[in-house]
Amino acid sequence: MADDCLFCRIVTGEIPADVVYSDESAVAIADINPQAPTHLLVIPREHFDDIGEIGVDAGTAAGWIAAIGAAARGQGLSEYRVVCNTGPSAGQSVFHVHAHLLGGRPFHWPPG
Ligand code: 5GP
Ligand code: ZN
Repeated sequence: MADDCLFCRIVTGEIPADVVYSDESAVAIADINPQAPTHLLVIPREHFDDIGEIGVDAGTAAGWIAAIGAAARGQGLSEYRVVCNTGPSAGQSVFHVHAHLLGGRPFHWPPG
């Protein structure tokens, strides 16, 4: 657990969140500012700042990616978008890696 990390505190339950999926690797919560009918944040239990950091730990990364798929299935989603904003200029505001899992509407490409 990293000091002063919002998502570490959500993972431990210290800060409440609407948890919709949980396993040994990750938890999925509803985003407080949803951008689609379904907007979950899939957060690995272990702290890594971003996808570059978690990517060097293959086992942990695999568990997290499996949790993304499981959370989507749990929502009945077969079509969805997964986004990992990485760095401030890409829109990352919480520096504990997380996947945005968005579904329930069409998405356009390229993204903004
Ligand atoms: P980022 O900007 O790092 O890609 O994504 C952070 C996300 O966390 C944002 O979509 C924001 O709405 C969400 N968020 C920020 N604070 C909280 C919180 O306290 N609870 C929940 N459930 N979501 C949060
Ligand atoms: Zn953290």
